[in-house]
Amino acid sequence: MSETCKATVESIPEIYGSLVFNDKVMKERLPKDIYKAVRKTIQNGSHLELDVANTVAAVMKNWAIEHGATHFTHWFQPMTGLTAEKHDSFIDPTADGNVIMEFSGKELVKGEPDASSFPSGGLRATFEARGYTAWDPSSPAFIKDGSLYIPTAFCSYGGEALDKKTPLLRSMEALSKEAVKVLHLLGKTEVAHVDTTVGSEQEYFLIDKDMYMKRKDLLLCGRTLMGASAPKGQEMEDHYFGVLKPKVSEYMHDLEQELWKLGVPAKTKHNEVAPAQHELAPVFETANIAVDHNQLTMEMMKKIADSHGLACLLHEKPFEGINGSGKHNNWSISTDTGENLLDPGKTPATNVQFLVFLMAVISAVDEYADLLRCSVATAGNDHRLGANEAPPAIISIFVGDELEGVLKAIEDDSIFKSEGKTQMGMGAHVLPHITKDTTDRNRTSPFAFTGNKFEFRMPGSSLSVADPNIVLNTAVAEALAQITEKLTKAFESCSTEEEKEAAIHALLKELLLAHKKVVFNGNGYTDEWVEEAAARGLDNLKSLPEAMPRLITSKSIDLFTKHGIFTKEELESRYEIFLENYAKTIHIEALTLQEMVRKDFTAGLVQYMKDITNEALKKKQLIADLGCAYEESIIRTLDATEETILSALSKLDEETRTAEAMTDALECATYYHEHILEDMEALRASIDKAEALIPEGYLPYPTYGELLFSVR
Ligand code: ADP
Ligand code: MG
Repeated sequence: MSETCKATVESIPEIYGSLVFNDKVMKERLPKDIYKAVRKTIQNGSHLELDVANTVAAVMKNWAIEHGATHFTHWFQPMTGLTAEKHDSFIDPTADGNVIMEFSGKELVKGEPDASSFPSGGLRATFEARGYTAWDPSSPAFIKDGSLYIPTAFCSYGGEALDKKTPLLRSMEALSKEAVKVLHLLGKTEVAHVDTTVGSEQEYFLIDKDMYMKRKDLLLCGRTLMGASAPKGQEMEDHYFGVLKPKVSEYMHDLEQELWKLGVPAKTKHNEVAPAQHELAPVFETANIAVDHNQLTMEMMKKIADSHGLACLLHEKPFEGINGSGKHNNWSISTDTGENLLDPGKTPATNVQFLVFLMAVISAVDEYADLLRCSVATAGNDHRLGANEAPPAIISIFVGDELEGVLKAIEDDSIFKSEGKTQMGMGAHVLPHITKDTTDRNRTSPFAFTGNKFEFRMPGSSLSVADPNIVLNTAVAEALAQITEKLTKAFESCSTEEEKEAAIHALLKELLLAHKKVVFNGNGYTDEWVEEAAARGLDNLKSLPEAMPRLITSKSIDLFTKHGIFTKEELESRYEIFLENYAKTIHIEALTLQEMVRKDFTAGLVQYMKDITNEALKKKQLIADLGCAYEESIIRTLDATEETILSALSKLDEETRTAEAMTDALECATYYHEHILEDMEALRASIDKAEALIPEGYLPYPTYGELLFSVR
C-alpha cells in the first residue's frame, strides 16, 4: 500500500463526522447538566429551557467558528421535496464600529424565514405567509460551505406542517407509542421507546458535464425528452457490478470522503444495470437522520460531480429504453433496548413477538397500500413503476419461502417444519439467520422482507424518503393499535400463559386471513400478476392523478388524524401540492420539448437536408448519369418525418394551452397525464426516427450514445 493511500485509510476515523456537532462534541464541550438536558430533549422530545438553549448556542457557535463557519442557517425541507436554507452571519456590530460574533439560544431554536413562496397548498394566505422553523435537536447540526447548518422543522404561524420533517417526526412518535403498548402486552415492559430505522440505497447516473450543459431537457427537466437509442444499451449486462472507470472511481472516492465528514455513513458503492448508472448505500440510521442524510447525499452527489467535470442525474427516468433510477427504502423498527423487532431469530415460527410485528406490517401494507402508492407518486417516478425494470404500481409483499411456510402453518393450525438448511446436519448455532438466506431473491417485489427489515423498492431516486416513511410508520402504528385493542380484550379471559399464546395465535390467523391477499412471492413483472392482482382485489394505480384522490378519502383522513400526523387541512393541502407539482413538471417538459424541437433540432434537420440535397445535385452536375437513390431515400424519409413532426408539434402546442387554462388541480393533472404526455411521446417518436438518420455533427446537442458511454 502506498504512503498516501495508507494515510487516507488511517485518517478515516478522524475525518468521519469532523464537521458534525454530534454527541461526542456535545459531551466534550457542554457543561454536564446542559448536556443531560439536551440528551433528554433528543430522547423524549421534551421542551428545552431558554437558558439551556443559550448555552448550547454559544458552544455551537464557538465550535462552528473554530471550523471556519461565519454564518448559520436553519435547514428545512419544504414541500418542494428539496432542502431550503437562508444564511445569517454571526456578526453583531458594536457601537464602536467593531463586530462581535453572536448566536443566541433564540436564534438556535426558532427562525422566521419569509417563506411566502414555498408551496403551502392553500394553508397560508399570502398576508399571513410567515412560516417559522424550529430546531430539531434529534438530527445533529453540521458545517458546510462556511455555514453552520441547523436541521429544523418548518411550520405555519398557526402550527400547520409545511414540510416533510414535521409529519415524519410525528409518525415516528406514533409508531413508537403503539409498538411500546404491544411490547408491554407481550411482557416486554422494559421497553420505553422504539425507533424507526431507515437505510436508503440511492441510484444515480453520471454523465459528462459539458454534454449535460448542451441539453436543455437535462438542464431544465432532469431527463431527456428526445433522443434515439444508442446501438448499445444495457443488454450485455456488462455494467452491473462492473469495474469502476477511473473517473467514476475518483468521483465516488471524493463523494464518500465528503459524506463521511458530514457524518453520513456511506458504505457501499457499485455500478448499476444501465450504462453510466451507479448506486450508493449507507449504513442505516434513525429514520429522521436517515432522511436528512439522504438529502445531503443527493446534494453532495451533484456538487462533487460538478467539480469532477461530471453531472449527476437523480431523475427517475433520464433515458428512454434503459433502466431508470430508484431509491430502495430499507425499513425496520428497533427498541431502546437494542432489539430489531423484525429480526426473526433462528426459529421465526416460535418467535411470537416477531410474528406479531410481521403481521402488523403485512396488515398495514394491505390496508393502506393506496397511501403507500401515493407516497412515491411523482411525475418522474410514474415513468418507472410498471415499466418492467422497477416494481409494478401494484403493492404486494414478498416474504420468502421460509416465512411463507410459517404463515401457512398459522393459517392451517399446523406445526411449521423448516425444510431449509437446518436439515443439513450442521450445528444450528453455526447457522446465520436462516430466513436471511431464503429471502431477497425476488427483485421484482415492491415490498420485500429481506432478512430482518423490509425493503420498499418503489420510491424514485429523487424522492425525499420522508414521504414513504411517514405512511409506513403511520399505517403500522394503526395496525399495532388494532392489535393492542384486540389482544387486550382477548387477554381479559385468559388466565394462563398458554391461553394467552392461543389468543395471540388466533389473532395472527385472523389478520392473516384478512390480509394474505397482499402476500405474493412470484414474479411481479409479469402480465399474469397484473391479472391475478386484479382478481385479488389489489389496486393498480398507474399514475399520480389516479392515485392521489386516495390521499383525501375519509379512510385516509381518519388514519392520519387519529395518530396526529396530519390534520384534514394539512392532508388536503398536500393533495393540492402533489397534483400541482405533477402538472407543473409536465408543463415545463412540454415547453422544453417544443423549444428544443423548434430551435435546436429543426436547425440541424434543415441544414442536413439542404446539404444532402446539394451534394446530390453536385453529383448529378459532375456526372449526369450517377444515381442518387441513397440520398433521395434519406431526403424522402426526412421530408415525411417533417410532416409528422409538424402535426405532433402543433397538437402539443394546442393542448398545452388548453391545460394552462384549467383551474381544478385533479382535472388538470389528469389532462397532463392523458393528453400532454401522449402528445410528447408522439412528437418524440418522429424526432427520434429522424435523429437516427442525421449525422451527429448536425445536432447542437449530444446523442444517447455520447451521453451514456463517454465517461472513462
Ligand atoms: P441489499 O444490497 O441486498 O439490498 P444490504 O444488506 O446491502 O442489502 O442492505 C441494504 C440497506 O439496508 C443498507 O442501507 C443497510 O444499512 C440497510 N439496513 C440493514 N439493516 C437495516 C435495518 N434494521 N433497518 C433499516 N435498514 C437496514
Ligand atoms: Mg437492496
